[in-house]
This record gives sequence, C-alpha cells and structure tokens, in this order.
Amino acid sequence: MWSERLNQARENISSFAPIRSRWYRELTISSACVVGEAYGFSSSYVHKCKTCKELGFQFMYYFLIQSDSGIENAKLDFEDHWNKEHSKIKTKDKIKVDTDSQVQSHSV
Ligand SMILES: [Zn+2]
Repeated sequence: MWSERLNQARENISSFAPIRSRWYRELTISSACVVGEAYGFSSSYVHKCKTCKELGFQFMYYFLIQSDSGIENAKLDFEDHWNKEHSKIKTKDKIKVDTDSQVQSHSV
C-alpha cells in the first residue's frame, strides 16, 4: 500500500493536494506508517526496534519535505534492514518495497 502511495505521491499528486496531508498524518501514526504496514499495522516495533522506529521518522520527514531521494533511501534502508533483521517475523514477509524509481505508472 505505501509503496504505491509513495510512487503516486511522487508522480501524480500535487504538492498541495489534501491527500498529502492525510497520508502525512498516517505516517505520524506508528501503526499506520510505512514501517507499521510491514508489521501488519502494528506499532509493536516502537519499543522493540530502534532502527525501525528511526526509519519511520525518516519516512515522515522526507514525505513532509517532499524529498524523493530521501524517501528512496529510506525505502532501501528499510528493505535492507527488514530482510536482515525481521524477515522471520512472518513467513510470507520478504517485503518488496518498490525501489525502482523509474516506475512506469501502471495506470490507477
Ligand atoms: Zn527493525
């Protein structure tokens, strides 16, 4: 969900669109943000993993300042960290954050 949103935000949504502030608000909620999504919309990581918590802040911050490269980096870091540290939380969860910055937006 977030990987799609972040791509959309980059490509199709103007800087002032109201949906941006709605998504930003979700990014501030630890269970609903990018990291929370990976945990199945749980905020359990906040007390368990400092790195995840920090990455959550990064997504929030880069989204706010609309830094695409920052978001890309946060995605890569998070994907890397997750696959190393948390991939056994749930068996299906090798997350695939969409890191291809040249995504041809499959029309939504
Ligand atoms: Zn972690």
